[in-house]
Amino acid sequence: MSISNQHDVLVIGSGAAGLSLALRLAANGPVAIVSKGLVNEGCTYYAQGGISAVLAEEDSFQSHIDDTMNAGAGLCDAESVRFTIEHGPENIHWLEQLGVPFTKESGPDGTRTLHLTREGGHSCRRVVHAADATGVALSNTLVNHVRQHASIDVYENHIAVDLITGAKQGLKHNRCVGAYILNKNTGHVKRFLAKTVVLATGGASKVYLYTTNPDCSTGDGIAMAWRAGCRVGNMEFNQFHPTCLYHPEAKSFLISEAVRGEGGKLLLPGGEPFMHRFDERAELAPRDIVARAIDHEMKRLGAECVYLDISHRSGAFIKSHFPTIYKRCLEYGFDITRNPIPVVPAAHYTCGGVLTDMHGHTDIEGLYAIGETAFTRLHGANRMASNSLLECLVFAESASNDILKTIGSARLEKAVAPWDESRVTDSDEEVVVTHNWDELRRFMWDYVGIVRSNKRLERAMRRVRMLQHEIHEYYSNFRISGDLIELRNLAQVSELIIHSAMARKESRGLHFSIDYPEVLSNKSATDTILVPDTTGKPAEKIEVVK
Ligand SMILES: Cc1cc2nc3c(=O)[nH]c(=O)nc-3n(C[C@H](O)[C@H](O)[C@H](O)COP(=O)(O)OP(=O)(O)OC[C@H]3O[C@@H](n4cnc5c(N)ncnc54)[C@H](O)[C@@H]3O)c2cc1C
Repeated sequence: MSISNQHDVLVIGSGAAGLSLALRLAANGPVAIVSKGLVNEGCTYYAQGGISAVLAEEDSFQSHIDDTMNAGAGLCDAESVRFTIEHGPENIHWLEQLGVPFTKESGPDGTRTLHLTREGGHSCRRVVHAADATGVALSNTLVNHVRQHASIDVYENHIAVDLITGAKQGLKHNRCVGAYILNKNTGHVKRFLAKTVVLATGGASKVYLYTTNPDCSTGDGIAMAWRAGCRVGNMEFNQFHPTCLYHPEAKSFLISEAVRGEGGKLLLPGGEPFMHRFDERAELAPRDIVARAIDHEMKRLGAECVYLDISHRSGAFIKSHFPTIYKRCLEYGFDITRNPIPVVPAAHYTCGGVLTDMHGHTDIEGLYAIGETAFTRLHGANRMASNSLLECLVFAESASNDILKTIGSARLEKAVAPWDESRVTDSDEEVVVTHNWDELRRFMWDYVGIVRSNKRLERAMRRVRMLQHEIHEYYSNFRISGDLIELRNLAQVSELIIHSAMARKESRGLHFSIDYPEVLSNKSATDTILVPDTTGKPAEKIEVVK
């Protein structure tokens, strides 16, 4: 066991990215994993489909590369795509060795091999999975190994507040030397010092009112890195899943695309079908088109949701094809064999994030970012299904290899000021936090969601500035809480999304603006890179590099 709060490596986040990186490093020195909830609470646990990798004989790296580049609508970086895909198979084998119970099938000679499934956008069977709960299998296996490792300390219910950098501590050398972490059980903020810090905090889909993500996806890593001086990229590309169950208590329950595949019809609240007006493939159009059509109709009618009706199929068919959906909907009072299901689109994945290279390096020495929080240029303007867990694993591997090369010569910086609470008091009005949290997610949904316009983005920018002002005041005067930290980060990430969306004068991939409906030629397609200003200039001066 290491001395408390001093480690070689501090990993912030315990999803596929953070856990696998920690396991790869642990043999070489003490590692801390901090997780703001329970160790398995993150998107990884909820992943259903699987992990893409080229394993079938008839498949090829080139085919996976082509599919990924097609989905990315002209913005994927060829080097990043090739790097990720070529490292896929070795990462799947590593997981097999750890014992992840992937689904297998018997070959003609009786040997057991991985069962590969196929998903939208993939031109070959290449998705490794554990039935329809890959995330549970993956997360449980990684957590079991982490728990058994003597040199990994796991801190649950600990939330990172901010990174500690040399510049902010008045040190000569600007590198990341640790993070301030709030223990949610005791309410105390402590210094966690490390030679290397890794952000593996997942995405930011919680900025939207409706999301498929668990509560922890509040973009903390992106906001912390930005405040510390790192560039972020392509924050305008937020992927929405078209059909999530609409019910106040049914947070994040997806209604699979297979329901539409089996004849499910999308209906307006009055019972009228509408998809045929948007695409000749109607309900079978690609995800982003269906999500946009639903969003358009909800905004046009001021409707709270639309409906997905599969009740024309027999009860026996529905129960045997969609047992989980049937059961879950029934729990909320909807018998889908008789009635349509209320659905809304929901934020699903953050394609942008903290800018990194092929080894997870950010702009600050000693600070790495991996997984959904990073912007590796893999996904371009639209993520292909099952490429995100792959990215988590591949970049955890490459970052850990890089860390192992430098950790021997890196120094633990101890001249770090403690967290200063001398000027704050206990909050007297927690309602400010809950109110602002709700308001933010509502206007992000209405103005910066699936379909954007100049006017909506301007409105959203005005509101986010006002909220940031209030949050800053609250943050400066009151003792911090987990909710306040997340709200501050959500507001920061929202501002970055709005800036990026304003900077893109075209509609590409997941970003659609009614003021710029055209797609520019792929030759002039560029990433949106935001550059922070560390000299204290006002936020309006964020530099956009195209
Ligand atoms: C319903 C659903 C289904 C999906 N299905 C698939 C699929 O089939 N295939 C696929 O490839 N992808 C899928 N995805 C996407 C994929 O699951 C995620 O992109 C991936 O799991 C992200 O992993 P991660 O390690 O980056 O982050 P996460 O797994 O989200 O973990 C983030 C971690 O960071 C911690 N954290 C965050 N902020 C802080 C902080 N301030 N301090 C301390 N800890 C913090 C959280 O507590 C959590 O432990 C799905 C996503 C969802 C929501």
